[in-house]
Amino acid sequence: MRVPLIAGNWKMNTTVDEAIELVNELRQGLNKVDNVEKVLCPPFVSLALVRGLIKESSIKLGAQNIHFEPKGAYTGEISPLMIADLCEFVIIGHSERRHYFNEGGEIVNKKVKAALAAGLKPILCIGERLEENEAGRTEEVVTEQLRSSLAGIDAADGLVIAYEPVWAIGTGRAATGEQANATIGFVRRTILQLFGKPAAQDMRILYGGSVTAANTAEFMQQPEIDGALVGGASLKAAEFLSIVQQTSKIRSHLSE
Ligand code: PEP
Repeated sequence: MRVPLIAGNWKMNTTVDEAIELVNELRQGLNKVDNVEKVLCPPFVSLALVRGLIKESSIKLGAQNIHFEPKGAYTGEISPLMIADLCEFVIIGHSERRHYFNEGGEIVNKKVKAALAAGLKPILCIGERLEENEAGRTEEVVTEQLRSSLAGIDAADGLVIAYEPVWAIGTGRAATGEQANATIGFVRRTILQLFGKPAAQDMRILYGGSVTAANTAEFMQQPEIDGALVGGASLKAAEFLSIVQQTSKIRSHLSE
């Protein structure tokens, strides 16, 4: 059985003080849940502080982005080496980065390689836009994103994939459990072609897009869905805790 993973992507939210407050609200409750991997992805400026706050807990840390070079003249950027001692995970290829920062397949591929080389576990985001979904092109789009993002990579140990349909991110319009399960099943079959059976069996593939405490159960009951990448709802302590607790309960029930 794959251990489910729930990651909170705080995006460009929380000052350092607010990040400390949010972690303090979450820490005890999250720490009690032991059959779910819990990952917080605060902004860069709060990473070191949050790391200190969760040190004695089972909560893990992720960054939201990296540059692909280890160091150099890239003013304002953060390299994989700078966060490798702080974090275990890093989100790569989020649709907001693809859209607002023009990050295409080639850049995403370089970032995935750089993360793996630095010992970080990438949470690689893929997903189709609304017009692609409506044109019935979802499988074609996610296949192309997987192939370009993972080109030249032969071992993807630790890689996590987040299927996030762009039309569902931050819109309150989540996919249905069945839709997400079907596409994630397709993603797993593509991983099987790219990396073989053990990788396809072991790889965690998450759903992301307007996940809330109210719809968590719908996703976590699906056999192909191994957790969630949560944006807006991860900024509310009680809601994020409920998402993690429900995931834990449903998964232990399913494994009985
Ligand atoms: C995300 O940021 O990856 C995300 C899925 O956001 P939201 O949960 O707010 O839709």
